[in-house]
Amino acid sequence: MDMSRQRKRTAADFVFKEELGHGSYSTVYKAVDKRDPKRVYAIKVCSKAHIIKERKVKYVTIEKNTMNLLAQGNHPGIVKLYYTFHDADNLYFALDFASGGELLALLHRYGRFNDALCRHFTAQLVDTLEYIHSRGVIHRDLKPENVLLDRDGRLMITDFGAAATTDKTDNPIDDDFTPASSFVGTAEYVSPELLLHNRCTPSSDIWALGCMIYQFTVGSPPFRGENELKTFAKIVELDYTWNPSRYDMDKSNTSINPMIVDTVRRILVTDDATRITLAQLKLLPWFQDLDWKDKGKIWQGVFT
Ligand code: ATP
Repeated sequence: MDMSRQRKRTAADFVFKEELGHGSYSTVYKAVDKRDPKRVYAIKVCSKAHIIKERKVKYVTIEKNTMNLLAQGNHPGIVKLYYTFHDADNLYFALDFASGGELLALLHRYGRFNDALCRHFTAQLVDTLEYIHSRGVIHRDLKPENVLLDRDGRLMITDFGAAATTDKTDNPIDDDFTPASSFVGTAEYVSPELLLHNRCTPSSDIWALGCMIYQFTVGSPPFRGENELKTFAKIVELDYTWNPSRYDMDKSNTSINPMIVDTVRRILVTDDATRITLAQLKLLPWFQDLDWKDKGKIWQGVFT
């Protein structure tokens, strides 16, 4: 038995290295386990005083509980939470180190993903969302900033601070997650059902997936206004276009795979009850020659 798991870990068990980034209430460091220097983690450090002052206790609690729940299945598409501990000043989350950085940074570097890369990341997202939903969790804040990459280019979903659970009868939990409180960051991936009915279901994550597939292909998300209100108006009016002039000044290379256009069209459906499901998505022509049971293939890296 691994004795290191017997005792509660503390910050003194790790050598803290460089800062990897920071969020609104946390700073993330690369860290090495003193007992096993081959074990590298990303440790998210949250100041208790700051969390309380900024009223983020609820988000941090949701994040911890959701990541603990999802870590149980050992799914490759989830940033795994290994340990949590705290001291007088801080809370610590020891996470998988995503050495490939953010998916958004990769997209910015490439401008847009080619067909193969787009399908590759979409397949990994579909497989991961299926897992998340099978555990009764809705992510609710899916966007390329919340998708990290390991060193081989496999994606890992993170940032579960806005997640919700579905109850046993599959109804979304009716909590106080109002549209006003949910737009802490970008509004571009928010679903019409949240805007129109203040409702969030597993299908709302599929809507965000549709926005991401479009973004992978075009380089920017489908609904983007000058401000949040204009973005929301575009979302509820389903006001998006594949017009290449919007994203490509050099029109010599603007052909988009019609199967991607068709996939996105089936996802970006205003009524979440008729929006395509993940199971239906997997049967679309775009994925025709992909064996969804072949997890090794789906979870191949892109840099190796
Ligand atoms: P906010 O909390 O404001 O939404 P955030 O979610 O980006 O922001 P953090 O989760 O604290 O905040 O992450 C801060 C940054 O640290 C991220 O942008 C990312 O670049 C980096 N980071 C976070 N988690 C990891 C990880 N597991 N591996 C590598 N880098 C990470």
